[in-house]
Amino acid sequence: EPMIRLTGIGKTYPDGTVAVHELDLEVGRGELAVLVGPSGCGKSTTLKMINRLIEPTTGTIEIDGDDVTRRDPVELRRGIGYVIQAVGLFPHQRITANVMTVPLLYGESKRTARQRAEELLDLVGLDPKTYGGRYPHELSGGQRQRVGVARALAADPPVLLMDEPFGAVDPVVRVRLQEEFLRLQRDLGKTVVLVTHDIDEAVTMGDRVAVFAEGGRLAQYATPAALLAHP
Ligand code: ADP
Ligand code: ADP
Repeated sequence: EPMIRLTGIGKTYPDGTVAVHELDLEVGRGELAVLVGPSGCGKSTTLKMINRLIEPTTGTIEIDGDDVTRRDPVELRRGIGYVIQAVGLFPHQRITANVMTVPLLYGESKRTARQRAEELLDLVGLDPKTYGGRYPHELSGGQRQRVGVARALAADPPVLLMDEPFGAVDPVVRVRLQEEFLRLQRDLGKTVVLVTHDIDEAVTMGDRVAVFAEGGRLAQYATPAALLAHP
């Protein structure tokens, strides 16, 4: 039983744009699947349909064997972490407070929420003693991205969705973040779906790579080794 199963999923926007066309995709437990392809071929739309930030026009979404297509999207998102390129940190809250918002939202005490936030900052390589009291604009792009990952992990979701998570940082930092994230993912065993337009990132990071083509169609879905052997 895969962790995520998309069956015949499609999205036509109200203006008639077909962003995703009858797509089937399965992601196994603990697997890191990468959606890759040129701009405008439906990667982000597909990712956002998984947590119902966008409502699919056709098809079904199963998560952990459960058909969530018609479940309350707000409740659904609690089980799914979401990381985007422009990490939406609260600019007027310090770093620890930014991460604490999630456990506080789920009813944890301030003390437990702070403890959890500090553990997570440590986990993503930011010493809370040094960085916890800073404001987002006092961190580098790469550090802000780590805070975004910490916050996405704060609810301990089994599934993480990442949309161009390393896109905003310079190439050297990007490679370091990619490596660190892979290590973290291996340790935590999260199921991850990551969107990128960078084929190098896709083959470096993916257990399986979904290659999107024009018109929101899936051209290939294979391991990096298979893709490199039969491009
Ligand atoms: P990608 O992530 O691969 O760049 P997107 O999923 O963002 O692609 O977009 C797929 C297609 O849907 C593109 O043609 C895009 O212009 C279109 N699209 C995205 N969002 C909307 C929207 N809200 N309304 C209409 N068309 C949209
Ligand atoms: P990275 O390699 O992660 O991109 P940078 O070279 O951008 O890091 O930043 C190096 C150091 O400078 C980091 O420790 C960061 O915390 C600090 N720094 C960056 N921007 C600011 C700022 N506006 N105020 C205070 N410290 C900053």
